[in-house]
Amino acid sequence: MTTTVQTGPEELLAYDREHLWHPYTSMTAPTPVRLVDDARGAQLRVDGAWVVDGMSSWWAAIHGYRHPVLDQAVTDQAGRFSHVMFGGLTHEPAIELGRRLVDITPDGLERVFLADSGSVSVEVAMKMVLQYQRGTGHPDRIRMLTVRGGYHGDTFDCMSVTDPVGGMHAMWAGLLPQQVFAPQPPAAGADAATVAAWATTLRHIADQHHHELAGIIVEPLLQGAGGMHPYPPECLAVLREIADEHGLLLVFDEIATGFGRTGHLFVSEIVTPDILCLGKALTGGYVSLAAVVTTDAVARGISGSDSGVVMHGPTFMGNPLACAIASASIDLLLGTDWKARVSHIGDRLATGLAPLREVPGVADSRTIGAVGVVQLDHPVDVVAATDAAVAAGVWLRPFRDLIYTMPPFVISDDELDRLIVGITEAVKAG
Ligand SMILES: *Cc1c(COP(=O)(O)O)cnc(C)c1O
Repeated sequence: MTTTVQTGPEELLAYDREHLWHPYTSMTAPTPVRLVDDARGAQLRVDGAWVVDGMSSWWAAIHGYRHPVLDQAVTDQAGRFSHVMFGGLTHEPAIELGRRLVDITPDGLERVFLADSGSVSVEVAMKMVLQYQRGTGHPDRIRMLTVRGGYHGDTFDCMSVTDPVGGMHAMWAGLLPQQVFAPQPPAAGADAATVAAWATTLRHIADQHHHELAGIIVEPLLQGAGGMHPYPPECLAVLREIADEHGLLLVFDEIATGFGRTGHLFVSEIVTPDILCLGKALTGGYVSLAAVVTTDAVARGISGSDSGVVMHGPTFMGNPLACAIASASIDLLLGTDWKARVSHIGDRLATGLAPLREVPGVADSRTIGAVGVVQLDHPVDVVAATDAAVAAGVWLRPFRDLIYTMPPFVISDDELDRLIVGITEAVKAG
């Protein structure tokens, strides 16, 4: 039975604790969650106090919260229709988003599949790779080559290409597709000899497995949830060469890196993949939407497979509301000097976080684009670090040994300074 009663924060939190699962959180012995009841610009109201959002709601809210342009896009499209099926029907919001994605992604990427979340887009991309190989006469090519330290989502195929330790493959032994793992690329700034040694190992692994390999999948330039690990752009050219040499499709998972976060609109501008996955910031963090953008050759290869079609079609494929918001978000981004914003945020984070290297317990600090990372030499005490950050007026969500931030691009200098103080307090407490 449902009742509508005026519920206060304590009651809401109590109900949440009893009934709602949170990401990677125990249902029966949950770590605390905090109640958000408002969000504006780069700030969230958490347990009644405004805090600077250091996470952009997991890379997504690049324009901050309640942006008038995005709010208007919601209202306009909801006033027409929020959803219609995409099987046998189409609509302007999907077409306009498709047009934008084709225009702003590198030349050659021109066929668009709209999926409903990042993980689903990775599933679709991997299915496309297998169907392409079948359609071009290579049914035995069934494995993906990837690197250690990656993260590609939480569904089973996505877990299979996520780092075996971070993705807890041992727990799923016998259930995950078996993929081929190469060493993690060296850290950004590595010398040429180190990059060359990594490339040699990778080539060797590709040679050994070439008969069974179908494609390569990586997060280009920056591994995110697997460890916040930026790596040299030279590694991308190596991946492209190996893919071409062995007839593999190269998949770039830019779900986290897309839309300017690293200082490139897309990392794919450095090296063009055959298949590009986008998500997270695609709708400016308003609703879930992802896209898979491929070359014409991929589409043609798939058409040669038995079914001739991509065997995937989610209920909410091409959701008009999500597409309308995504187009508005892209226009908003391209209408600003986002590159200058990202490099300004990055510079300020680099300056602010560098002194933390001297703090006991800190192993490293690094920045790339509008991302700042502090790595501890021990697992973070997440509850203590989060409490310290919130007390300093900042929202952070550390994991493993990492306290990190990728703030909304609209963050002000004052908010950035507060963010740096919050990270510092979290580091000392964590
Ligand atoms: C977040 C993420 C995913 C998964 O996206 P969801 O929308 O959470 O399913 C996949 N790959 C990368 C690189 C991500 O950062």
